[in-house]
Amino acid sequence: MASDNLSVILKGKGEVCLENRKLPEPLPNEVLIAIHAVGICGSDLHMYKDGKIGELLVTDSFVLGHEASGTVVKAGSKVKHLKSGDRICIEPAVPCRRCEFCLGGRYNLCLINQYDHTPIGDGSMCRYFCYDADFCHKLPDNVTLDEGALIEPLSVAVHACRRASVTAGKSVLICGAGPIGLVNFLTCKAMGVTNICITDISENRLDVAKKLGATYKLNVKDLDSKMAIEKIKSIMGGLPDITIECSGAESSVKLALLVTKSGGVVTCVGLGAPEIKIPIMEASVREVDIKGIFRYAHCYPTAIELVSSGVIDVKPLITHHFNLENMLKAFETSASGAAIKVLIHCSE
Ligand code: NAD
Repeated sequence: MASDNLSVILKGKGEVCLENRKLPEPLPNEVLIAIHAVGICGSDLHMYKDGKIGELLVTDSFVLGHEASGTVVKAGSKVKHLKSGDRICIEPAVPCRRCEFCLGGRYNLCLINQYDHTPIGDGSMCRYFCYDADFCHKLPDNVTLDEGALIEPLSVAVHACRRASVTAGKSVLICGAGPIGLVNFLTCKAMGVTNICITDISENRLDVAKKLGATYKLNVKDLDSKMAIEKIKSIMGGLPDITIECSGAESSVKLALLVTKSGGVVTCVGLGAPEIKIPIMEASVREVDIKGIFRYAHCYPTAIELVSSGVIDVKPLITHHFNLENMLKAFETSASGAAIKVLIHCSE
């Protein structure tokens, strides 16, 4: 094992660099992981491009990354279910395990976990990383480490689809065909939904959705809400039962509330501006449930199973690969919008 621990450090707006950090030593309940691949996510890009995420400013340097896979190098003395050589993916943000949310099973809402493993604590875009063993999920032999890095965004989709009660026979509109919209599309299909329409304002993104099997797609760039609703109604043969909003754009959230069938559900996955104007009266009088989404809870095992069984193929989403030394190019490529998922490979 090499002694260096090259890490991608964000210092502030547009300031990302490589630094050699100390090789960490696992605590008794942790494993030391040789990181294989880390995906660049929209939140990494926000922190890189804007120097902030939501209201949270980047004030101190920290290691980026939270969509990671790797191989266990050393297990702490109390770790029973993992050993050196095991291939794993990491579920970021370890909760306190004691608060009402953790004890109630919704550990993604634990207040402690919101600031662990970025935003804005040290993440996993580095050669070696120590992490709680019980938030490391073993990958089956037929799931590659590259696919393992996609389990994080796929888990977001599993959570969003579960909260929306996505099931066969429902019709689903997905707003936004970025990586998160696309994993939601794949998950809806996997859950038996056949009537799915996906929107975007970028023809390139909609082309990718089409390649993944989307039969119904709509470019909403030049459409006002009224026009978009009419088009969606005509494409889908009626209004959607469920809308999964994955862009965070104000006009898209507004459309989601207006277009969803009375009594339906809108899940807000996209995280855009902290405050936006929405037609709340529409949602109230037509009993459209608005559900927030924050990451996932108990979704990794399902996401891994969906990939290992072959029901979901995440490989077409991985469009670019860079090694750690070329991380700047990786961030530029991801920020250009030309990529779907960019992976940074961290091993030497
Ligand atoms: P992305 O920026 O790559 O994709 C967003 C897509 O939305 C783009 O293709 C863009 O062209 C499209 N878009 C923009 N305006 C639109 C509009 N008016 N109508 C339809 N489409 C529009 O981002 P991503 O990685 O796919 O993530 C999507 C969103 O999900 C982001 O806001 C991200 O922060 C959020 N996110 C939330 C969670 C959570 O736990 N809630 C987890 C991960 C990501």
